[in-house]
Amino acid sequence: METFKKLFEHNRKWAAEMLSLDPDFFKRTEASQEPHFLFIGCSDSRVPTDRMTGALPGEMFVHRNIGNQCWSTDVNMLSVLTYAVNVLDVPHVIVCGHSNCGALKAAMGPASNGLVDHWLSDIRNTIRWHQDELEAIADPKERLAKLSRLNVLQQVGILSRTPVIRDAWSRGRRPMLHGWVYDIATGLIEGVVEQVDSVKKADELLPNN
Ligand SMILES: [Zn+2]
Repeated sequence: METFKKLFEHNRKWAAEMLSLDPDFFKRTEASQEPHFLFIGCSDSRVPTDRMTGALPGEMFVHRNIGNQCWSTDVNMLSVLTYAVNVLDVPHVIVCGHSNCGALKAAMGPASNGLVDHWLSDIRNTIRWHQDELEAIADPKERLAKLSRLNVLQQVGILSRTPVIRDAWSRGRRPMLHGWVYDIATGLIEGVVEQVDSVKKADELLPNN
């Protein structure tokens, strides 16, 4: 069977299984969504957003890009964030990096990836800001793991300074910001930064680069 046809086959089985467990599930979710989470993750195919968290349809609003970046000039990301915070009123925003990330590997190497190098420029800034700390780690795998955490911290820091988040906090509203790294080798999530829900906490926990 051709690979893409398997997707349809799986889809029909999945929909039937969901109906057998809860006959009204799809009717209910069709009416509206009230997600608890905005998940901002890497596009990497090895990061199974729903499966690794057990999130059901309707529970997680998702934005993904190469290297889980949260540029304060990215209209796509900002639109997702604004809708999630101001309309869906999500209680939690999660930035999730992962182990062995190709984007981080590419950013650590010489620039020769064409257009993608523009996208990697903020990761290269993070590498520059933490150059001594990273170069002190001899094991390349450990160094990459450290960069995954630093990148997540950096992106949560950027989110914490966006007008949409600052406005929500100033009105005493959610969301709470979190930073995770998913380990592809174990399937486990590590919390890098958790429960940032005020300017004070953001200033204490997050980089101000
Ligand atoms: Zn990645």
